[in-house]
Amino acid sequence: PPAVEVLSAEKVFSNGTRGLAPIDLSIADGEFLTLIGPSGCGKSTLLKLIANLLEPSDGRLLWWRGDFAQVGQEGRHLAFVFQEPTLMPWARVEANVRLPLELADMPRAKADPLVKDAIARVGLSAFARHYPRQLSGGMKMRASIARALVTSPNLLLMDEPFGALDEFTRNKLDDDLVRLWWERKLTTIFVTHSIYEAVFLSTRIIVMAANPGRIFRTMTIDQPQPRD
Ligand code: ADP
Ligand code: ADP
Repeated sequence: PPAVEVLSAEKVFSNGTRGLAPIDLSIADGEFLTLIGPSGCGKSTLLKLIANLLEPSDGRLLWWRGDFAQVGQEGRHLAFVFQEPTLMPWARVEANVRLPLELADMPRAKADPLVKDAIARVGLSAFARHYPRQLSGGMKMRASIARALVTSPNLLLMDEPFGALDEFTRNKLDDDLVRLWWERKLTTIFVTHSIYEAVFLSTRIIVMAANPGRIFRTMTIDQPQPRD
């Protein structure tokens, strides 16, 4: 079944701004879908609708053919990575990554190996006991990704995760993201301003346009392959 279906969903904000014209979109399991387009074209709004952080003003969405309450019960179907790494400054990397498991009341004995694995997958094993302030921007972003992956989500949502990083660090993280996606074919929806990233990472690109936010073009491309 599709991971997410957006059924004529639109968003008018309380001040009257039309963030998103009615959109129909079906996201298949295993896709790496990238949303790209100018500021104000509704990328974040669409991503937040998919994350159920916003409610559509009209139309609806389905997650694995169900409503969000059903999905929410398991609580680990969706993970969200924001542009700014949102780490707790007073907690070590490992405690930051463990947080979603703690919130789900998972016992430490069960959580610890998952935390270790998630940290290893983003290449931060040597920094597990560091505090966020001891990490570079790229490493903080890696820690945020580890915290998203630790719950084994079925759907990973990323809102311009590397937008604040220098190009060199960003390219490294792009490579690693392809590798992560390749390992598990984790359904991912990714927002970026970078055409390079869109082409390099995605199996499908949706180009959006503004006033009102809408889908302008869709293109399906070959599956990305990790570079040697
Ligand atoms: P993008 O992520 O592509 O830059 P957004 O989804 O943030 O675009 O915004 C789409 C449109 O909706 C823009 O015109 C923006 O100003 C407007 N918008 C976004 N959030 C709000 C809000 N909370 N209240 C009013 N207007 C908003
Ligand atoms: P990333 O691509 O993960 O952002 P950077 O390019 O920022 O990595 O850093 C390159 C390498 O420099 C890191 O993998 C790490 O080994 C080392 N490094 C960066 N910041 C620190 C730090 N605060 N303390 C120790 N080593 C660091």
